Amino acid sequence: MWFFKTPEIVFGEEALAYLERLEGRRAFIVTDAQVRGLGLVRPVEERLRRAGFEIDVFDAITPNPTIDQVRAGADEIRAFQPDWIVAVGGGSVIDAAKAIWVLFERPDLDPLGISPMEPLGLRRRARLIAVPTTSGTGSEATWAIVLTDPRARRKLAVGSRENLPDIAIVDPSVVLQLPPRLTADTGMDALSHAVEGYVSTWHNPFSDALCLQAARTIFTYLPRAYQHGAEDPEARAQMHLAATMAGVGIGDVLVGLAHSLGHALGARFDLPHGRAVGLFLPYVIEFNARSAAGRYADLARAIGLEAPDGTEAAFRLARAVLDLLDRLEQPQTIAACEIPRDDFEADLPTLVEYALEDPCTLTNPRAPTREEVAHLFMYAFEGRPVDF
Ligand SMILES: [Zn+2]
Repeated sequence: MWFFKTPEIVFGEEALAYLERLEGRRAFIVTDAQVRGLGLVRPVEERLRRAGFEIDVFDAITPNPTIDQVRAGADEIRAFQPDWIVAVGGGSVIDAAKAIWVLFERPDLDPLGISPMEPLGLRRRARLIAVPTTSGTGSEATWAIVLTDPRARRKLAVGSRENLPDIAIVDPSVVLQLPPRLTADTGMDALSHAVEGYVSTWHNPFSDALCLQAARTIFTYLPRAYQHGAEDPEARAQMHLAATMAGVGIGDVLVGLAHSLGHALGARFDLPHGRAVGLFLPYVIEFNARSAAGRYADLARAIGLEAPDGTEAAFRLARAVLDLLDRLEQPQTIAACEIPRDDFEADLPTLVEYALEDPCTLTNPRAPTREEVAHLFMYAFEGRPVDF
C-alpha cells in the first residue's frame, strides 16, 4: 500500500489572484521580516482584503525556525482565531506555519509531539495556504516540518500527514527577484528532492514521474535562473514549477542520506539547508551506486547523459551534479564551507549520531553503518570520490 496526496496547486502568473476567491473572515499570515521587507506580503494582504478578510501578520520566523518561535506564533494565533493560515515565505516559514497550525488546533500538544502516528484532527478551526517565495524546499507540497533546537544545535523532523497544506499558490512573479545565492541554495535543494525521491525505497509510479520531470527541468533551468535572474522569467517560472513538482514527488516517499547528512552539518555549522544537502548529493549518489544503479541510470538519461549498464551511470550522474555545483559557484566540500578541520573533527561523533537517527536515512536505498556515515562525512570534507 502507498499514499499519494497533494494540495490543490495554483500555478502561473497572477496565481496570487486566487486568494480573492477565498471564503472566510480572518486570515493569519505567517512570514519573516525579510520577506515582508521585500514587499512580498503586501500583494497577499491586498488580495485577502479584497475578499473581505481581516488580517493579522506574524513575521517573527527566522531561517531554521526554532521551537520557541513556533510557540510565540501559537500564542498570537490563539488570540486572533483565524479560519485561514497563509504562509508566505521559504521552507522555514511554511514549516513553522504548519507547526503553529497544530498548536492552534491542539493546544495540548508540544511541537515535538507532532508525529505521523498520532491523529491530530486538524481543519476543525483553520486551513493552510502556502505561498512559496523561493524555488526549492517544496514545503508547500509536503507535510514534513523541520524545526531547530538551538540549544542542542540540532534539527528535528516532525509532522503529520494532516499537515499537508490545502492550497499551494505557486506564482513565479513572487520569485523573480530572488538573489543568485538563494537561487543556487534552494535550487540544489529541489534537485536533491528529485534525485533522492526517485531512488527512495518508498518510491511509487506517481512520485517517479514527478521526480524525473523535476530533475530534467532543474538541470536545464537552474544555471539559467542563477545566471540571469529576473532577466530570464522563463527559467524562473520553470524552476518554481519544478520545485513544487519535486515537493509533491517526495511528499509521501521522503528523501535520503544527503538530507540526513545535510541536516546534521547544517544545524551544527549554521549552513543553509540547500547548500548543505546539495554538497552531499554527489557523495551519496556514489555511495548508493550499487544499490540503485538502474534508477540512477533513469535519472542520468532524463538529464541527457549516456547511461551504460552497471554503476557507471550513477558515477556520471554524480559528476554532472558536481559540474552543476561548479556552475552555481557552490561549495563541493565541507572544507570549502570554511569549516575548520579541528571543529569538524571534534563534532564528527555527534554529526554521525544525528545523521543515523534522521528519518531520511530510513528511505535511503543503501542502509549505512556508523563507520560508513563517518567515512562519508570525511570524504565530503576532503572532496574524495567515494570508493567504499
Ligand atoms: Zn530538502
